[in-house]
Amino acid sequence: MQSLSTSLLINNRRCVVVGSNSEALAQVNWLCEHNAQVTLIGSATVDQPGVICIDREPVETDIDDCWLVIAASDNKTTNHQLRNWSEARCCFCHSVDDPDSSWQINPARVNSPNVALVGAGPGDPELLTLRALRLIQQADVIVYDRLVSKAIMDRCNQNAEFIYAGKAKSDHTLQQETINQLLVKLALRPANVVRLKGGDPFIFGRGGEELETLSEHQIPFEVVPGITAASGCAAFAGIPLTHRDYAQSCAFVTGHLQNGDINLDWRGLVQPQQTVVVYMGLTGLELICSSLIRHGRSPQTPAALIQQGTQPQQKVFASTLEELPALVKASEVRAPTLMIIGDVVRLRERLDWFV
Ligand code: SAH
Repeated sequence: MQSLSTSLLINNRRCVVVGSNSEALAQVNWLCEHNAQVTLIGSATVDQPGVICIDREPVETDIDDCWLVIAASDNKTTNHQLRNWSEARCCFCHSVDDPDSSWQINPARVNSPNVALVGAGPGDPELLTLRALRLIQQADVIVYDRLVSKAIMDRCNQNAEFIYAGKAKSDHTLQQETINQLLVKLALRPANVVRLKGGDPFIFGRGGEELETLSEHQIPFEVVPGITAASGCAAFAGIPLTHRDYAQSCAFVTGHLQNGDINLDWRGLVQPQQTVVVYMGLTGLELICSSLIRHGRSPQTPAALIQQGTQPQQKVFASTLEELPALVKASEVRAPTLMIIGDVVRLRERLDWFV
């Protein structure tokens, strides 16, 4: 098939978009950016000047005085019908599910909305994956967390738009639901959007919740794993998380306090030959250590707190379950910190290498 490439000047001309999915919304966005007058027919609403939203099925007269129809319905029959109605009126029609049989006006192919959920690792920029590095260098918009180190921010595309979505304990700059909605909004832009999170996005990162929202809106996404704090801190503190002689399993838990309490399966955590890694456990450190002892773990079990792991400021406070709280209290400890509990901590005496 021969095709004639052309560009349309749709300034102030009426265009009709039919559909409610992310593709339809992306097309509306694109048309608005080119100053079209858009009528969106479908159940979605778009709050933009120049857009009229009509929540019903399309009828033939909807396209009577329009220049361009985008058939982006999930219903193929509807799209087919729109093509026929347009054909009869000599009106351009682009059908997203059948580009070959219609006018190839396919902004979404160029402006594909896409979000990458990227793990930034524990801080050292050299621990970024190659894919993470490429994506942050190509990003147009970067929504980042408090835990992403400055050294990593410096490696991002400096012309990108940076949006801080950090959540310190007391200062929830953006609530989770707001972040979820923000990502949906950004994804409709013709831009590479990166959601950058410390460590691995699927480990205590709420990455899953953000993706669920994108998925509800049928927005395509990808996930790039990162080195989680447990791996990064363990490696840089010389503590193998498992070891044939000392630990055959390793549990990652959150020590986050809720209403002054920590809801953990303490009996499961005091099993012998098991390493326990506690994320977000600084405030609850004393309670965590005493609970483990009370449920049967020996007070002499080696335990370490690693501060700002993998970063030049890394510090390790190594002690026992019984004595770690006092050591931490007497020291000036700065977040983020990670606790590792178990006999493997003792190996640090021989394996510590990072200075
Ligand atoms: N998704 C992240 C964890 C987010 S929860 C990951 O996979 O690592 C935040 C907690 O991670 C902090 O409270 C702290 O316990 C831990 N953490 C993250 N980076 C750290 C670092 N560089 N050093 C020590 N702990 C870290």
